[in-house]
Amino acid sequence: MAQEDVFKKLVAHCKEYGFVFQSSEIYDGLSAVYDYGQMGVELKNNIKKYWYDSMVKLNENVVGLDSAIFMHPTTWKASGHVDAFNDPLIDNKESKKRYRADVLIEDLIQKFEVKIEKEVSKAQKRFGESFDEDQFKSTNPRVLANQEKINEIHTRFSAALNNNDLEDLKQIIIDYEIACPISGTKNWTDVRQFNLMFSTEIGSTAEGASKIYLRPETAQGIFVNYLNVQKTGRMKIPFGIAQIGKAFRNEIVARQFIFRMREFEQMELQFFVRPGDEMQWFEYWKDFRMKWHKSLGMGDENYRFHDHEKLAHYANAATDIEYRMPFGFKEVEGIHSRTDYDLAQHQEYSGKKLQYFDPELNKSYVPYVVETSIGVDRMFLSILAGAYTEDEVVDTKGKKETRVLLKLPAILAPIKMAVLPLLKKAGLPEKAREIVDSLKFDFNLQYDEKDSIGKRYRRQDAIGTPFCITVDHQTLEDNTVTIRYRDTMEQERVNIADLNNILEEKVSMKNLLKSLV
Ligand code: ATP
Repeated sequence: MAQEDVFKKLVAHCKEYGFVFQSSEIYDGLSAVYDYGQMGVELKNNIKKYWYDSMVKLNENVVGLDSAIFMHPTTWKASGHVDAFNDPLIDNKESKKRYRADVLIEDLIQKFEVKIEKEVSKAQKRFGESFDEDQFKSTNPRVLANQEKINEIHTRFSAALNNNDLEDLKQIIIDYEIACPISGTKNWTDVRQFNLMFSTEIGSTAEGASKIYLRPETAQGIFVNYLNVQKTGRMKIPFGIAQIGKAFRNEIVARQFIFRMREFEQMELQFFVRPGDEMQWFEYWKDFRMKWHKSLGMGDENYRFHDHEKLAHYANAATDIEYRMPFGFKEVEGIHSRTDYDLAQHQEYSGKKLQYFDPELNKSYVPYVVETSIGVDRMFLSILAGAYTEDEVVDTKGKKETRVLLKLPAILAPIKMAVLPLLKKAGLPEKAREIVDSLKFDFNLQYDEKDSIGKRYRRQDAIGTPFCITVDHQTLEDNTVTIRYRDTMEQERVNIADLNNILEEKVSMKNLLKSLV
């Protein structure tokens, strides 16, 4: 199946099974804003819990914070967002569609990368076992020609970004004949800068009201509180502050479903270190974060680091963790070494000292910061994209049918186990309810007695429930049930008394958290 088709199906699946709805759908929706339904909210909460626990519980020098969305407007002046939180935009004169110039160029680079990947997989099939990918890439003329194009565009692109050269950004688009996907023409306007922050007013009277912003990142709430936390928590450097919260950006091009939203959620860690130690911690957090992603079992080959072309004005090192989405490798998380930029700026604008006294060095300094910043929604999308599977199965009458299932990691699945009485009579529902009542305090369960058992299994497969148990006549005699495993569809009989342990082992976060240390 083509990857675009997979993506379309995934979006439809998200709506059909209560994962994600378009916001204000009855009014035809609001562009790039989404609501999470009954299944989505569970999956999202599980992602957030796994992140928070891995950061705060596993690292004794990391603590949490929940700062407000509204902040004093000077915060955003100091952080550089008022002057520089811009994206370069360009319009196609024919279709009147607006694009980010940098994204058009990145998409072009990706086309060449896809060409290389295709050559590699063709050759892999041809040569089989003896295939040496590195050698092939360094000698095949078509791969080399595509790689040369990528390097050429990269060099120009990063120079244009670093020099803020909007004319050259446009020139790259012209020179490489990038066309508008809608109109197919190359009739472009000039590139302009567009500030992404939403603003509103605080205060009740027109005269007394002042302009404030909806935060475009959660990080600044951490910076302005860093001394409060350090002093009241008696924290010693190095230490970190972790926060999960909403962020808002007036994205120019809102597309790809929940990948790019105008209201989204971030999970950020700001880790405060001694100046000079930042590279060591940058590497530490890169490793830790990659391990966290891979621990979920979505396939190590689907993750990669991508170092930044252009370093943000505040950073001295930056990389992204990318995941192979149905539309290519895309950023899910950013890891940045932010130097002392933010704290020094806040110190200057507020006039308050934001220095830390280091008792070991017996001196004061403004700490350096290493940040890890991941979007909850992008993480959610990457998990769903990796989990969405279509299987061909044979039903009880020997007919082939397609089974749609979500191979979600058990610890993230919205429902851990479905309890299904085989019949709606003969004491089976009562027995099934008894099981639910004994396990519901520890696990998210679903009771379902409607429709044939086959249909009920399919419904659970579609929402990614890892285990279904069926209560039948034998259950009443010997207190055993059949347990069915989502991915293999295998079934076995187990004692009701063992269910708690089975679930505990497979769905509790404890084992996964242990694998990180
Ligand atoms: P992009 O280049 O894709 O716009 P970014 O580099 O601006 O992203 P950061 O500012 O580093 O993103 O934000 C950290 C994380 O927040 C990103 O890795 C992403 O997961 C998430 N994020 C950023 N913008 C959005 C958005 N508009 N919608 C959903 N998630 C977002």
